[in-house]
Amino acid sequence: MTGTAETAGAVTNWARTIAYTAREFHRPATPDVLAALVAGATRVRVLGSGHSFSRIADPGPDGVLLSTAGLPPVIEVDTAARTVRVAGWVRYAELARAVHAHGLALPNMASLPHISVAGSVATGTHGSGVGNGPLAAAVQEVELVVADGSTVTIGRGDARFDGAVTSLGALGVVTALTLGLEPAYEVAQHVFTELPLDGLDFAAVAAAGYSVSLFTDWREPGFRQVWVKRRTDQPAVDFPWAAPAAVPLHPVPGMPAGNCTEQLGVPGPWHERLPHFRAEFTPSSGAEIQSEYLLPRSAAVDALYAIEGIRSTVAGVLQTCEVRTVAADTQWLSPAHGRNSVAVHFTWVPDEATVLPVVRRLEEALARFDPRPHWGKVYEIPPAVVRRRYTRVPDFRALSRSLDPAGKFTNAFVRDLLAD
Ligand SMILES: Cc1cc2nc3c(=O)[nH]c(=O)nc-3n(C[C@H](O)[C@H](O)[C@H](O)COP(=O)(O)OP(=O)(O)OC[C@H]3O[C@@H](n4cnc5c(N)ncnc54)[C@H](O)[C@@H]3O)c2cc1C
Repeated sequence: MTGTAETAGAVTNWARTIAYTAREFHRPATPDVLAALVAGATRVRVLGSGHSFSRIADPGPDGVLLSTAGLPPVIEVDTAARTVRVAGWVRYAELARAVHAHGLALPNMASLPHISVAGSVATGTHGSGVGNGPLAAAVQEVELVVADGSTVTIGRGDARFDGAVTSLGALGVVTALTLGLEPAYEVAQHVFTELPLDGLDFAAVAAAGYSVSLFTDWREPGFRQVWVKRRTDQPAVDFPWAAPAAVPLHPVPGMPAGNCTEQLGVPGPWHERLPHFRAEFTPSSGAEIQSEYLLPRSAAVDALYAIEGIRSTVAGVLQTCEVRTVAADTQWLSPAHGRNSVAVHFTWVPDEATVLPVVRRLEEALARFDPRPHWGKVYEIPPAVVRRRYTRVPDFRALSRSLDPAGKFTNAFVRDLLAD
């Protein structure tokens, strides 16, 4: 067998907060080797770029952890169709550069371009914008190596499609995806400081740009920074609620602004403004744990006051909190499924023992808003409670059983969620 097989003990997630417990780690170099490996295994999980904080990618001690990063870095742009077919393991940074070189663009990006396409859409990863769905919303077709080693292609129009993209890695190995594109556009990024919570018109603030993020450390009420990303091909909206920053800023206090994408309203290509962090630098702080919850957008202000009520508890273990919007999505397991959402994200200090009690306290404070946790981040809500917040779990369960009758692509995380 070509490709590498290593013990997985040395393999960790990006933040080094999780060591995967797989029996073996494989990086097949050809599609045939990948297919044989999948067909012969009893338990497999795929690792993308490893940016998740939950145990979602961990196959468990009897399983195989598999990376597809040894396969060719396919990026095929079809300028006439305005689509790109991309290998699942390719990161958004490379994808965006290639697409931009053809005068085309993705509709949105997450806060960082370092993450793989397949891993991102599998967990419902999103950027911000009242009209922007999660990154999965751009996907038109998924190619999967399923349990018997064969390849299955599922496109829009197939009844299985809404289960197949945000799939938690539970249906097979995503070898390639086709994404819809639009003509390239420019974005100017403005940061405003000190936006009060009292009197916040959340709907207006969130709609003041193509993509808007509010940041706070909760040490004081209100928001320390608001990042407004304006498309230059759309009318500029005033931002009368806070003063513009005079210098570039980093959303995590104490971190260098040079790691961040250009600010102060200088227009630039979409892929050099939509992420907060530059591809060539460490995103965020690097030493952290993350949590995030998607709630109905209509509850945004009430939810922010609920957090305000436990502000000092949260602030004690927090590096930064980011509030974004995500448009409703059709993927069955998308945290934005069927509801326009507000996403409230927390970058915690890297100390699980002190962070988890605060996560539980936060979840109590937010419980009445039916929060759906980000699949790639840390949460403590019991799986049975999470499951009740997704009406299409039975459909996903049926799809998983049809493609993977023996549950080869499940792990403890997925089994707990899908339990009957
Ligand atoms: C600094 C930082 C900033 C972040 N910012 C954001 C943000 O702005 N918005 C947001 O929503 N999230 C954000 N995240 C979370 C991140 O986007 C998700 O955790 C995402 O899943 C990362 O993609 P990945 O490739 O690293 O996934 P991994 O952690 O490697 O895997 C995630 C899941 O995808 C599956 N998977 C991966 N590749 C494949 C494949 N080829 N086939 C089948 N299944 C596969 C895995 O099995 C696993 O279930 C951030 C994380 C970090 C560390």
